[in-house]
Amino acid sequence: MKESDYLWRGMALNGQFRVLAVNSTDTVQAARDIHDLSPINTILMGKMISAVAMLSLDLKDEGAEVTLRLDGVGPLKGALVICNNQGDVRGYAFEPKFWLEDLQENFHPVKYLGNGTLTVIKYYPGDKPTKGLTPLIEGDVAQNLAHYFEQSEQIPTAVNLGVLIDKDAKVRAAGGFIIQQLPSADLLNADRIIDNINHMPNLSDLMDMGLYLPEILHRFVFKEGGLKLYPAHGIRYRCYCSKERFAAALKLLSLEELKEMREGIDPVCQFCNTVWHFSASEMEEIISQLEKK
Ligand SMILES: [Zn+2]
Repeated sequence: MKESDYLWRGMALNGQFRVLAVNSTDTVQAARDIHDLSPINTILMGKMISAVAMLSLDLKDEGAEVTLRLDGVGPLKGALVICNNQGDVRGYAFEPKFWLEDLQENFHPVKYLGNGTLTVIKYYPGDKPTKGLTPLIEGDVAQNLAHYFEQSEQIPTAVNLGVLIDKDAKVRAAGGFIIQQLPSADLLNADRIIDNINHMPNLSDLMDMGLYLPEILHRFVFKEGGLKLYPAHGIRYRCYCSKERFAAALKLLSLEELKEMREGIDPVCQFCNTVWHFSASEMEEIISQLEKK
């Protein structure tokens, strides 16, 4: 039986290292299908989905959300993904049809972003969002996320993210892990973990062979022992849009703008591509409500 997408958190070597892990294959497949992503976009968004899901483990409050976005001047342009404290993920790619004929082994999408930035935004209900930003560096999403942790939060971090796809756009495996070195850590242990990561087989290949993330961490990264990993909760692709939310957004527009839409409009949710139809009479209703104010 296939197990579904899940998050784990834990500690290693008596609290010297913090460990986060995620299996995200079905969630990445859902993103691919909803947005009809090209292969390079599936890999980019897939890695970002694993990353943002692990970042969401730090959200304590109900309704809190974390956004991860990559922006670049290159042809791939970037993507944005959001995850809430329940593990509900949504997002979109900025150039979803950008296509590379031949995806070479070890190729990585960040190369096609060019100069740009990685941004992490944390939103807590009733509070101002916090935002951290680092320039993109050479390397993939994982190296850029590690760089972000080192620059913005001064935490030495190892990140591994994998996405394996078929020619027919099927996501065979997606997932990742984050290991953070806490102040009490023995540097020799840190070196050994890095060495283990550098010598382990490709993460998505291991997942494709049927290994689950906790098993991969035990067998390849903490093979000397000392890892304690606990299940957190599942993740899934889920958008919370509704006609009421779109109506509320329309009411923020000016009367002039709304009057240009009085024949009716069909706004599309950028996260799930649902079309929300507003008829001429529904638009009149919104306009007359605003006129009364
Ligand atoms: Zn939606």
